[in-house]
Amino acid sequence: MNSASKQQPNARTATLGVIGHPVGHSLSPLLHNTLLWRLRLDACYHAFDVEPAQLPRAVEGAAALGFLGLNVTVPHKQGVFRLCDELSDEARILKAVNTLFFRPDGTIFGANTDPYGFRRALTEFLPNLQAFTALVLGAGGAARSVLLALSELGATTVWIANRTLSRAQRLATELAPQLPGPITLRPIGLEPRELESALKSSSLVVNATSVGMSPNTNGTPLPEGVSLRPGTAVVDLIYNPFETRLLRQAREAGCKVENGLNMLIFQAVASLEIWFGRRLDFDADVFAELRDILVSALGKTLERSRPVSS
Ligand code: NAP
Repeated sequence: MNSASKQQPNARTATLGVIGHPVGHSLSPLLHNTLLWRLRLDACYHAFDVEPAQLPRAVEGAAALGFLGLNVTVPHKQGVFRLCDELSDEARILKAVNTLFFRPDGTIFGANTDPYGFRRALTEFLPNLQAFTALVLGAGGAARSVLLALSELGATTVWIANRTLSRAQRLATELAPQLPGPITLRPIGLEPRELESALKSSSLVVNATSVGMSPNTNGTPLPEGVSLRPGTAVVDLIYNPFETRLLRQAREAGCKVENGLNMLIFQAVASLEIWFGRRLDFDADVFAELRDILVSALGKTLERSRPVSS
C-alpha cells in the first residue's frame, strides 16, 4: 500500500470522472481509481449520469467546480465537441472527444485517446507490424479510431466491411484525406465473397462492431461459412465477454487473438497523462494486477480459452 492509498481525499485532491448516459455499467471508475492509487496520484474518479439536455450545464459546472478533467462516453462524445476551446488532432479528425481537460487558464481542451489506446495495445500484441493490409469490421466511432491508428502504424490497405455499406463508404471518403501516410480504404458490405477476398489479403482483422458483446454473446460479425486463415491476427475491441465467439472461432482456426481490454487500459492511461501533464509508466506486475481486477469485475475468469456459450 502506498501513502496516497491510505489518505482520505482532502482539499487538494483533484476530481476526475466520466460523463455518459447511462453510465452505471462503466468500468472507468474502477480502472482509473486503481491506476490513480497504483501511480500515487492524488485524485478521485467518479461516474456521472448526464442527460443529453444537461450536457452543457454539466461541463460548465465541472469547470466551475475546478474539476481536473472528465472522460466522455456514449452518447456525449460528439456533443462535447463544440464545448471545447481547443481540440487534439485526433479529436478533430474523428469528430469525437473522450477526454476533457479543464486547464488552469479556464479553457477546455478536448482529446480522443482511443486511437492511442488501440495503437499501443496493437503494438504490444504485434510488435513487428510493417506495411500491412487489414480488414476492419464496422464503420462506427470505434472503427474510426482503429483506422486512424492503423494508418499511423503503416497500414497500406484497409478494407472496411460494414452491414450498412453506405456508412462504410461515407467513412472512407471522409477519413481518407485526413489520415497520415499513404493508405487505401476499401469499403465493402458483408457478402461472403467480398469478405473472403478481403481476408485473403489481410494479415490483421479487427472487430469494431458491437456484435458478440454481452449479453448477446452468440453473435459473430463474420457471416456463416466465412473462415479465417490460420496465422491471421484477430483483435476484437469487445472485452465483455473476455473471449467473444469471433475470438474463439479465430483461436480454433489457428489465429493469434487479442480482446479489447488492453485498448481500454491504454486509452485510460493516455487520459491520465493529459490531465497530469506527464508520461506515466508502470511495470508489468501493476499491469497484470490491473487486468485481473478488471476481469474479475467483469465476472469472468482469467482463462482466455473459456468458451462462450453458443
Ligand atoms: P457504434 O458507433 O454504434 O458502431 C457500431 C457498429 O457495429 C456499426 O458499424 C454497426 O453497423 C455495427 N453493428 C451493430 N449491430 C450489428 C449487427 N447486428 N450486425 C452487423 N453489424 C452491426 O459503436 P462503436 O462506438 O463504434 O463501438 C463498437 C464496439 O467497439 C462496441 O462493442 C464497443 O464496446 C467497442 N469499443 C471498445 C473500446 C475499447 O477500449 N476496447 C473502445 C471503443 C469501442 P451499422 O453501421 O450497419 O449499424
